[in-house]
Amino acid sequence: MTFNICVLASGSSGNCVYVGTETTRILIDAGLSGRETSARLGALDVELSEINAICVTHEHSDHKASLGIISRNHGIPVYANKGTLDAIETDSRMHGIKWNIFTTGQSFDIGDLTIEPFSVPHDSYEPVGYIVRAGQVKAGIVTDMGMATTLIRERLKDCDVAIIESNHDEELLRASERPWSIKQRIAGRQGHLSNKQAAELISEITGPKLKTVFLAHLSSDCNDQHLAIKEVTDTLKKQDISGVDVKLTYSSRISDLVSL
Ligand SMILES: [Zn+2]
Ligand SMILES: [Zn+2]
Repeated sequence: MTFNICVLASGSSGNCVYVGTETTRILIDAGLSGRETSARLGALDVELSEINAICVTHEHSDHKASLGIISRNHGIPVYANKGTLDAIETDSRMHGIKWNIFTTGQSFDIGDLTIEPFSVPHDSYEPVGYIVRAGQVKAGIVTDMGMATTLIRERLKDCDVAIIESNHDEELLRASERPWSIKQRIAGRQGHLSNKQAAELISEITGPKLKTVFLAHLSSDCNDQHLAIKEVTDTLKKQDISGVDVKLTYSSRISDLVSL
């Protein structure tokens, strides 16, 4: 079996992750337009009609923009917890979705993938991160979190690949033109993870299995790709950790495809 994972888009303009084996293909979040989702999947030789399910992390628009249209047009079931479902259903563009409700903390199967949703701190109703397993392979996906809790660190242990938010550089955020209240929200415990916090989290979850980390949800004006990579690689080097490939994700194009 081959386990494929690719970040189709990441950042405040849209988030979408593809995870697939030979027989099961899912998306985590649907923050791109339907057309763009289809085009980026096409680069992986996957058709939207082949997607078996979409799992949603939370109701913010950069994670759900085309959820309604993709689910309706292709009959794709959407998996979410009750808090996220209730928040999404208030949006009229999201009517007609075929929902599957899960309980945060309880795993469920989609084809040959096992999905384990877990709670993360973020300013939405019931936000989750996901562990996705297939055979011996374990992937961790946490894109919006204000802080790395003990639960998050526990869940991300022993991953082969992880997608982790590295939203902002703390200095760039402080110096930015954004209103004080927004800066407080982003830096707060229910906001977004800084490069420094991401680097600490990654060094804590690194084990013999972890080969690839994707840095996700980079802010366009309060971060810089080189700063984000440097923060993480410097922290790993300081702790004598080697063998972890740190990769970027993008808003305008897909990331590298990792096959395990
Ligand atoms: Zn969010
Ligand atoms: Zn987001």
